[in-house]
Amino acid sequence: MKLTTKIIIGLIAGAIVGILLNLYAPDLFSAFDTYLFNPLGTIFINLISMLVVPIVLFSIILGVTGLGEPKSLGRIGIKTVSFYLLTTAIAIVIGLGLSLIIKPGLVGDFDTSGAEYSAEEAPPVSDTLLNIIPVNPFEALTSGNMLQIIVFAVLVGFALTRLGEKTKGIVNLIEQGNEIMMYLVGLAMKVAPYGTFGLIASAIGSQGFSAIKAMSVYMLVVLGALLIHTIVTYGSSVYFLGGMNPVTFFKGFAPAMGVGFSTSSSNATLPLSMETAQKKLGVPEPISSFVQPLGATINMDGTAIMQGVATIFIAQVFATDLSFTQLLTVVLTAVLASIGTAGVPGVGLIMLAMVLQSVDLPVEGIALIIGIDRLLDMVRTSVNITGDAACAVVVANTEKKRKHKAV
Ligand code: ASP
Repeated sequence: MKLTTKIIIGLIAGAIVGILLNLYAPDLFSAFDTYLFNPLGTIFINLISMLVVPIVLFSIILGVTGLGEPKSLGRIGIKTVSFYLLTTAIAIVIGLGLSLIIKPGLVGDFDTSGAEYSAEEAPPVSDTLLNIIPVNPFEALTSGNMLQIIVFAVLVGFALTRLGEKTKGIVNLIEQGNEIMMYLVGLAMKVAPYGTFGLIASAIGSQGFSAIKAMSVYMLVVLGALLIHTIVTYGSSVYFLGGMNPVTFFKGFAPAMGVGFSTSSSNATLPLSMETAQKKLGVPEPISSFVQPLGATINMDGTAIMQGVATIFIAQVFATDLSFTQLLTVVLTAVLASIGTAGVPGVGLIMLAMVLQSVDLPVEGIALIIGIDRLLDMVRTSVNITGDAACAVVVANTEKKRKHKAV
């Protein structure tokens, strides 16, 4: 049986078991969760998270040396960042548009009197960007600061290219290190179906279904916007700019989407998304190695969609009208928030506070959506990593065309 099929079976079985226990045997759920679901999920997440830092470090170094001249890196960098910013802005506009039309905040009664939410201090985005150069690269590696690791790896790759023969040994060593990591990704994937089963059963089993009912219109708007963005924005960019049939793209990338869904973490899914893009979508290694880790760190279209819908929802619940300028402010701050959101579960909601504050909406509104955010986090993480893969396909195709022209 193919891995994709196995992962999908794991997802569905996990969902069914989670729902059944939730509805019919809530007492049994906690025992199952403690001794089965949680351990399965944790082992799997730890196994793939273990590989993230070395893979990002090795593969970016190799990617940069593989690209040869720094000019190519600059060109690819500009294309990648432009694609990420543009698609994120489109994502928020879709989220805002759909929620302005459907008005989820006006359907049903929302009790705002007891709403309490203390905003966690979101790191200012300017800090993230200013601290992009690691003062201590080893600290960046141990704390898993992705942007800093990326910058360090790019610089090392650049140095290795310039030093050529002199440092050939190190390049070989890193190549072999990368081989080891990719082999381990393959092994970890054997556990993926069981891991996804545990993660989904645990997440769904612990949901309060009454909360879902009250928030169903909001959830449907977020899901609708995610679907439209995935099919229209990614489908058309893969087709028109990436020269690939969108069905081939989505089918090929499905295993990574499944794992993104169950882990709710772009970072943890990174090893698999890179492998899938390289092996199933034919993205050359140097391009995938640069585009996808960067995307897992700064490109969060799914998160931006949730933030757009949540902002309008909260404005509607608190009966506040947003002017056109305020809507533009939301687009801008949500793009920044998406850059600042780390690819781990739940951070999108913390960054939402920043978006709300930018247009003077009450941060307490987050209390209304926090209960069901775990479920939406799964879907938006899948969308987040799909955006990175779409970008990799587009960049790979434009680079291929360039080469053909040059020959
Ligand atoms: N969980 C998301 C991710 O890792 C981030 C978020 O929206 O919370 O991509």
